[in-house]
Amino acid sequence: PVPILAVVGRPNVGKSTLVNRIIGRREAVVEDIPGVTRDRVSYDANWSGRAFTVVDTGGWDPDARGLAASIAAQAEIAVRLADAVLFVVDATVGITDHDEAVVRILRASGKPVVLAANKVDDQRTEAETYGLWNLGLGEPFPVSALHGRGSGDMLDAVLAAL
Ligand code: GDP
Ligand code: MG
Repeated sequence: PVPILAVVGRPNVGKSTLVNRIIGRREAVVEDIPGVTRDRVSYDANWSGRAFTVVDTGGWDPDARGLAASIAAQAEIAVRLADAVLFVVDATVGITDHDEAVVRILRASGKPVVLAANKVDDQRTEAETYGLWNLGLGEPFPVSALHGRGSGDMLDAVLAAL
């Protein structure tokens, strides 16, 4: 069976944009406003000759209990089904309470995690990523899902984790 990579993180960090970057096609729906329901979340991907399935998360309806519960529930489902997790944060915003909640779920899961610091569109923004070492999830990979910057190094780390 093909290994499964789940892409998790709070809304608007750029998960779907990063999924499109990984699969090399624009199939995952990118939203300026989060919370739209979509049925298709799994995509075939390939990097360096290795096939894997990438699962976009966060596209389901917000939980009736609210955003925080919804993020946590989706992260728990994703972690359960995945062989490895690509945890996406927005380097231009930094770590929020919602990010911290996801980190606790990832730690508890014991699954391998690759940390993507997204929206690093230029060299200047890269400095924002050094503080992410404090999350205790290993090396933060600065990427720009929008422009492709840094995605090769990130994907090499993903393959090592799968
Ligand atoms: P998701 O909710 O985590 O799936 O986030 P989306 O992929 O839908 O993206 C949310 C917003 O962030 C959209 O307006 C994207 O165009 C924008 N975005 C995503 N990746 C990047 C990036 O690398 N750089 C910049 N500047 N914007 C990005
Ligand atoms: Mg999305």
